Amino acid sequence: MKRGFLLRAQEKKQKKISSTNAVKKGSGPDISEQDRKVPPNAIITPLSFGVVAEAEKTLPEDYKQFYSEPKYQEMHQDTVDFDHLMFTTIPQPEDGDGYSEWLVQDGKTKAKVVRAPGYPARIPKPRLVNMAIVKEVPDMGFGLFTSCDIMRGELIFAERPLLVSPRGFPTLDVPGYTQEQQRQLSMLQFEAHLKIALGRMSASKQKAFMALANNHTEDGSGPILGIIRTNGYMIDLGDDDDPDSVFNHYSAMGELASRINHSCQPNIKQEFDCASFSLQFYANRDLKAGEQLFYSYCYINTGVAERRAELAPHGVVCKCSSCVNATPASDKLRLTYIQESSKLHQLALANWKQGQKTDPKVFAAMLKLERDMINEGLHGEDPFYTLLVTIAGSYKFAGRPTMGDNYLKRCPAKVQGHLIHSLCL
Ligand SMILES: [Zn+2]
Repeated sequence: MKRGFLLRAQEKKQKKISSTNAVKKGSGPDISEQDRKVPPNAIITPLSFGVVAEAEKTLPEDYKQFYSEPKYQEMHQDTVDFDHLMFTTIPQPEDGDGYSEWLVQDGKTKAKVVRAPGYPARIPKPRLVNMAIVKEVPDMGFGLFTSCDIMRGELIFAERPLLVSPRGFPTLDVPGYTQEQQRQLSMLQFEAHLKIALGRMSASKQKAFMALANNHTEDGSGPILGIIRTNGYMIDLGDDDDPDSVFNHYSAMGELASRINHSCQPNIKQEFDCASFSLQFYANRDLKAGEQLFYSYCYINTGVAERRAELAPHGVVCKCSSCVNATPASDKLRLTYIQESSKLHQLALANWKQGQKTDPKVFAAMLKLERDMINEGLHGEDPFYTLLVTIAGSYKFAGRPTMGDNYLKRCPAKVQGHLIHSLCL
């Protein structure tokens, strides 16, 4: 999972940019012409959240001097403008897989998409239609659920976003205004841009968008920005020439995607494909029919306090069993399981290379780690499969091939191949 650009602020005396501090979720901004060339090491501050006192007050009377009603002119759909903010509908012509409204803040990012090999590709189709369905969930509003058994790695659904918008924006620098007043004005300005983008959608898409949850109703976010801050998936359209540019990052809102709730025990992975301009969701472990799909809005390999702090800007108070039952031991597990799984694998390999079976203490530690990771809901993460394959190998070297095969069957083919490679050493 990619972390955002928001924590990179290092140098003073740079342009100021407002943004949420989210991994999954993004915010948006004003992108006036004079502020466009923001250096990658700009000062980036998260937007406020919760109840913000300034949001209740009207801005100082002179604010209209610093606010400009956005204007735009129609250009050819293939235009890639490197100097102006663009409102675009993508792909064109429509291919039957839907379309997205995209507020483009850097021509490079549009170029990356429209020049991607295969663009405009159809979106990939899952094995069955409607493998994920929306249902009401007590305490969560709505959620997305599986309608059938799904294997690890399978595509569950892919969709073109309803709206893609910039993830961060220059804060309007107004002398005499408090930092919060500057943010409030900047959000007002950005909302005006978002309103144009929303107005370009069909009535049914507008309705679907405005029906999404909004956890930012008391911090000064406009109704569209509030939904974006609550539901946006971060898309990184960075290129090799300019990987750190803040203008590479966007928030994407999907009609199904934005119904997926958070858990610190995620059971899906998300990808964004430029060629088909689609959000794609894959099972990260075997799923049973009727399971709710969960994505983690926060970095999961931290303790519960850090996760709570990272989730707060989303208005999410996680009630997953990892949060409710968190202990110092579970915090430690989240911080160490990646290294621990790798270390145990290396220790077992060292035994095998010498024609020995796995050291009993190492073997016992592997079985304990397996139990702990399942209890903590981390059994969709890649290190878990490294662990399973190491246990499989250990059983085989211990002369118990049937047990080894049972473990091997739980691993994806790619990981099984890794075991075969290991055994050939
Ligand atoms: Zn949690």
